[in-house]
Amino acid sequence: MSLLPILSTEFHLTQTRKGQEIFHSFSRGLCPVCRELVDGARIIRDGKVYLRRQCPKHGMQESLISGDVEWFLKSLSFARPGIQPKEYSTNVEKGCPHDCGLCPDHEQHSCLPIIEITNHCDLECPICIVQNRHNYHMTRTEFVSILDGLVRKEELIDTVNLSGGEPMLHPEILQFIDTARQYRQFTRLSISTNGLRIASDWEFCQQLAERGVYINLQLDSLSNQSLRTLRGTGRHDTVKQKALENLERAGVRTTIVATIARGVNDHEIGDCVRLVMEKDFILSLMFQPAAYTGTGGSQFGPHDPLDIITIPDIVRCMEEQTGGDLKRSDFLPLPCSHPGCFALTYLLKTEDGCIPFPRFIELENYIAAITNRGTIRPDDRFDEMLRNTIDQLWSAAGQIPDSPRILRTLKRALRLMFPDDRRIELEERLRLGEGLVKTIFIHAFMDEHTFEVDRIRKCCTHYALPDGRLMPGCAYNMMYRHRDSRFTGPIGTAQLRIPGQ
Ligand code: SF4
Ligand code: SF4
Repeated sequence: MSLLPILSTEFHLTQTRKGQEIFHSFSRGLCPVCRELVDGARIIRDGKVYLRRQCPKHGMQESLISGDVEWFLKSLSFARPGIQPKEYSTNVEKGCPHDCGLCPDHEQHSCLPIIEITNHCDLECPICIVQNRHNYHMTRTEFVSILDGLVRKEELIDTVNLSGGEPMLHPEILQFIDTARQYRQFTRLSISTNGLRIASDWEFCQQLAERGVYINLQLDSLSNQSLRTLRGTGRHDTVKQKALENLERAGVRTTIVATIARGVNDHEIGDCVRLVMEKDFILSLMFQPAAYTGTGGSQFGPHDPLDIITIPDIVRCMEEQTGGDLKRSDFLPLPCSHPGCFALTYLLKTEDGCIPFPRFIELENYIAAITNRGTIRPDDRFDEMLRNTIDQLWSAAGQIPDSPRILRTLKRALRLMFPDDRRIELEERLRLGEGLVKTIFIHAFMDEHTFEVDRIRKCCTHYALPDGRLMPGCAYNMMYRHRDSRFTGPIGTAQLRIPGQ
């Protein structure tokens, strides 16, 4: 097999003979055996992109990093300069990714800080990417110190996420929520959960609703067969169904988070989309291509690094499994992170179904609304985008399918969210906007096989640590988590539950 030198045009990069290889660019990745940083190259072959690394001790390794070379090439054009945080916590000393963080070399501020408030969990998911040791609950002092640190580093944060482990097992979860809600700099507080407590404790679910939190419910499939493969033994389907019922009844704003593993549940992507479209209380859907790292994920099999599911594969499955209701052209990489990390689309909820934003908004307007932030914020910039789009739809009437319906919805949105006769608080505007828009994200966490330093340097999803550091998500998972002093020490006794029993 010959390795051709880099060619300059996209056409040449996408039009190769079967088996022919083209060098695209240099990279820096990890050896999955010793986890040392090693030099590598991105290689195009048979319409896909591979990361090839050479470890001095363990030889050459190769892994798939994009299942579609056209998507990969296009996504690179979405890179935009990031925003610096107001304060750094470390210096540049050893070089990326050994100085996290954030160090002054980091290229993006924190759009989504994640606070892991516990490492206890009542499930032992075969696909789990963290390392639950059942020996740590965050103290109130640590929690407040993290929140104060975030305020020092960021002006405004759209979403602060509480995670774990299973955060609902923290004995002070409701007090933590109350504490976080006192910070006016945080627009939303979300909690990632397996849903077991929500399904079994209606009163608790009501208390979450009263506090206005957003729930990220882990729900990879509607079938118990797939759920058992990904989440372990038990009747997960009945528990997830009960959790959905309770969340809907209590009116909790919910995101469905679906980990997708090749050959396990990639045929159920369309079902997840339909669920989100049908239910008003579900605001968004997050697909996460499986990352084969952590206690569970690193053992999850069968796993072939050359045949994983990547962002463009999930987009293709959505198009196929929704009969074209969603199309590849509806999705764009998120310019906030590295474009290899996220893709998304916003959907406008009209009186007769959802219409993806890219079908009626000019690309540059759209990108401006999502650059340097993970979610649309209903601020002056959004107001301007709505008005511009309405003007453009007027002038292009007839050229855009469904334009009367889109116009009606946008004008209603403008009237509700930005009325001329009174000022509306951001929180209320946010709620109004949430009734009009749904979001589908794809977030591709890296593992030891797909890790690239370029991506980590632009990371906008950061674990917030009690010592003040913000750790880019995949750097922490790969290089720091196992050394985190909070999580070392003897492994505690797991209080596991079998869902449905
Ligand atoms: S990932 Fe960011 S914070 Fe960490 S060492 Fe690299 S540049 Fe610095
Ligand atoms: S957590 Fe990983 S996949 Fe997500 S933005 Fe950061 S580097 Fe990219």
